Amino acid sequence: MTEKTFDIGVVGAGLGGIYAAYRLREGGLSVIGIEGASGVGGTWYHNGYPGSRVDTDSVDMYSYLFSREIYDGWQWKERYAAQPELMAYANWVADKLGVTGSFRFDTWLRQAQWSQEDRRWHLKTDRGDRIACRFLVMCTGNLSEPKPVSFPGLDRFTGEWLQSNRWPHRQVRLTNRRVAIVGTGSSGVQAVPVVAAQARHTFVFQRTPHYAVPARNGPPDRKRQQEISCHLERFKEAMLARPTLPTGQEDRRPAAHYTAEEQQERMERQWALGGHGMAYVFEDIGTSRASNEIASEFARKKIREQVKDPVIAAKLCPDYPIGTRRLILEIGYYECFNRDDLTLVDMKEDPIEEITETGIRTRSSHYDVDLIIFALGFKPFLGAIEKAGVVNHRGETPREVWARGPRTVFGLMTPRFPNLFHPTSAGSPSVLGPLILENEFHADWIADCLEHMRRRGYDTVEATEDGADIWGRKSAAVAQNLIRRQVNNYMVHVNADDASRIFQPWAAGMATYVPEVRRMTAEGYKGFAFSALK
Ligand code: NAP
Repeated sequence: MTEKTFDIGVVGAGLGGIYAAYRLREGGLSVIGIEGASGVGGTWYHNGYPGSRVDTDSVDMYSYLFSREIYDGWQWKERYAAQPELMAYANWVADKLGVTGSFRFDTWLRQAQWSQEDRRWHLKTDRGDRIACRFLVMCTGNLSEPKPVSFPGLDRFTGEWLQSNRWPHRQVRLTNRRVAIVGTGSSGVQAVPVVAAQARHTFVFQRTPHYAVPARNGPPDRKRQQEISCHLERFKEAMLARPTLPTGQEDRRPAAHYTAEEQQERMERQWALGGHGMAYVFEDIGTSRASNEIASEFARKKIREQVKDPVIAAKLCPDYPIGTRRLILEIGYYECFNRDDLTLVDMKEDPIEEITETGIRTRSSHYDVDLIIFALGFKPFLGAIEKAGVVNHRGETPREVWARGPRTVFGLMTPRFPNLFHPTSAGSPSVLGPLILENEFHADWIADCLEHMRRRGYDTVEATEDGADIWGRKSAAVAQNLIRRQVNNYMVHVNADDASRIFQPWAAGMATYVPEVRRMTAEGYKGFAFSALK
């Protein structure tokens, strides 16, 4: 197949890729989009498991904010939009912006290699396409490539097994079936109540108990939506200046500032409000173990109040500090453990040994099941980029450059990878921030950078090694005192040789991130080097 040439390749048609494809073709640049799925939606396309929904408020934290027409044109049905509505939103926006046609669907990128000779990325897809582009924008998300399911014996299983993050686009029958859910992160916890309401029996396989707080879903805050709409640009700028703080926590102080009664009152108020605020209820909840323990114990007490059997309740109580792994929002999760038709299997005590023809064998039991749902999570940050086969002209992968932790400028570019952008990756607020807005901010930054290059006649832009050193130091400084850096989870990179621990996202929210990005950009794109083909 002959190679086709474009200015920009955008990989991924999720909410980030949709906006990037739209924004970057402005100014007359040609854009080719590549997407493995059969349609737009990105993470929401693949995560249609029972109960799937966003866990931040749709009207402010999970809406596009760049256009009044788009903002006003969509009326969310719920406080936390469910996956079908998110898919409808993605399709509606992509059609409205006229970008659906820019994407080649059912097409996985398998190789992307930078050439120093012609200063182009050369792409190969699983459908045999060969594409050359000057710039490659990996809108592949930071949690999109599933962790593989590697339990022995899986191929023998005669029932059905599915992954929450590769959920099929067809009806999956739950009624009258014995269903196992393996994994109790955000996905598993969302799935359990919906599955339990329909299945004959539900088995919840838990390795680590995680904190889940009430979501308090319901209708969206229409008044807030109207206020945002009236001052959309001002609101967007305020969101860009916002620390990682859910609404309602702006006035917080260290725990010791409050009396014991005031602490309880504050936590009760937050519990009633629902949402992520519980992880931010005291100013020092993220830095002081003692303050954190007050909120952790409060959450454990709530679990014990909801789950009648004290032995099961104890198994569901986490022992790590709250908010040091992503807080889960639940809708009816703990109540499920009072059902007679649901069994909790503690994989720490009784690990899975193998999958058999008829179910799951643990060290001490066998569970007969008809359907297994694996909700095991993702290969974070670089997972999808690795799968796409991205290498520079020396054949190096970004993972090799990141061997000792993320090495980026702004979480957007990696040294030694010219003209490659990876929006919302480690080094930016990424999973801790308002992701649609972060994607807008990054696509706007890329568009401005390309315009800067056009005016000066540059062909390439590259993050410098010095820039990555500077950014790495800044990112480490904002995470330095956080206790979440000490807790193992996908946000922490641990170097085995010296046990150094690098917190991968930018930990201090948009409020510190955006001014740093703007300042270094205004200082002549500090941290980047440009060059022109002679
Ligand atoms: P996750 O939080 O990484 O949870 C994966 C679960 O699978 C954990 O309980 C983990 O146990 C377990 N697990 C993994 N490998 C295992 C193995 N080999 N044996 C036994 N258990 C295993 O993944 P997720 O639930 O898909 O969520 C990932 C992230 O996606 C979230 O943090 C969130 O950012 C995002 N997400 C958001 C929403 C939302 O509400 N909008 C929904 C889903 C996902 P351990 O804890 O012991 O490792």
